[in-house]
Amino acid sequence: PHTHDYRVLQREEIATLLAQWPAVAARLGGQPAQWTVQDVADGNLNAVYLVEGPLDGLCVKQSLPYVRVAKDDWPLSVERAYFESAYMQRTEPFVPGLVPQFLHFDATLRVIVMERLQPHTILRKSLIEGVRHADAARAVADFAAASLFHTSDISTPFERKFQDVALFSQNHDLQRITVDLVFIDPYQVHARNRYASPQLAAVAQSLRDDAALKAAVATFRNHYLAKPQALLHGDLHSGSVMVTQTDTRVIDGEFAWVGPIGFDTGMFIANLLMAWYAKAGHSGDTTGYRAWILEQIAVFWQRFHAQFLAHWNTHGGRGDGYPDSHFDATALPTVQAAFLQDVWADTLGFTAIEIIRRTIGFSQIADFGAVADVDLRARQQAAAIALARDLLLHPARYEDVQALVSAVPAFG
Ligand code: ADP
Ligand code: MG
Ligand code: MG
Ligand code: MG
Repeated sequence: PHTHDYRVLQREEIATLLAQWPAVAARLGGQPAQWTVQDVADGNLNAVYLVEGPLDGLCVKQSLPYVRVAKDDWPLSVERAYFESAYMQRTEPFVPGLVPQFLHFDATLRVIVMERLQPHTILRKSLIEGVRHADAARAVADFAAASLFHTSDISTPFERKFQDVALFSQNHDLQRITVDLVFIDPYQVHARNRYASPQLAAVAQSLRDDAALKAAVATFRNHYLAKPQALLHGDLHSGSVMVTQTDTRVIDGEFAWVGPIGFDTGMFIANLLMAWYAKAGHSGDTTGYRAWILEQIAVFWQRFHAQFLAHWNTHGGRGDGYPDSHFDATALPTVQAAFLQDVWADTLGFTAIEIIRRTIGFSQIADFGAVADVDLRARQQAAAIALARDLLLHPARYEDVQALVSAVPAFG
């Protein structure tokens, strides 16, 4: 809608724009002339501003008609803001306090106005700096369990779930990015791949040459496309989580898509694992911190598992997948365990695929970027890829999260 009226906003225009929306202006307080606007974009895609008024602050996010980090070379439709705002509004009732409050969406300018998080930092930065946020893994697990459970066939009649499928299946432009950057490019020669060369050239070649590995990747790629289990966040890495010592929020749901639950959980675990591999190249004694990261992986999965079951036991059976009337109290635990074991199998596959795309593909991560010695960095990335390869080729070795966590150091 109204594509002809879209324009890229300048920082100087933001206050005037916000002043038109009474609820937004009231939240800032005072007069537009008193509002300060700061450009804080550090993600790959969009413009983000923090606005400070006499009463409160706000966060303003606008889609740009290109990929922010590759402006002239990579045009991209601005429709993603619509899907991010739809995702925020759809999931907020299930995850209050775990996301920034949604405040306003402008469908013409593709602007989302939301609660400004302060003094939060991005979890990826805290992992790089070696700061422990004791509650982050627990909170992200709660976010994943609630948002995924409540949009799945366990809790939701199929008519409602397929409204989500109908809406979010139109998020084509970002799904093209996921399909290409996550699932396809790293396994072929492509100009967008950005692995360390020559250090990782042989590793990249070995992925391209490995038919069994590519068959395993194809299985998960097809799950991503053909297993509409629940409404995914779609980009649940440590750069999409903002933390303080007492508060954790998940941001940036523009990749929302109805797909396999394990895609969200696997992406989060993969980014914790890569923080662990990268950490060995960061300065100081990182031994204790690395042990803490592995504990957080176990905390995350165990909490996700427990909360997903708790939601099922409290609310379950209203959807068409597992009607209450079909399973009594003795039969239910068996189907629940089978469901969650399938989610674990997907989690492992998507964990591996996320590791490979973040080391071989276009979207490299700051955790490895913080390792100045490029040879050391490449060795750590190769170790992470070796783990990923084992997860894809020998999943039976990783029957639970303890098996995964115990295996990690052998690849480090
Ligand atoms: P992108 O889609 O471009 O990755 P993000 O939604 O991840 O954009 O936001 C980019 C950055 O803006 C975040 O890393 C964070 O620093 C900041 N940010 C985003 N949302 C908020 C918010 N609600 N409050 C404060 N800062 C935010
Ligand atoms: Mg982001
Ligand atoms: Mg901040
Ligand atoms: Mg984003």
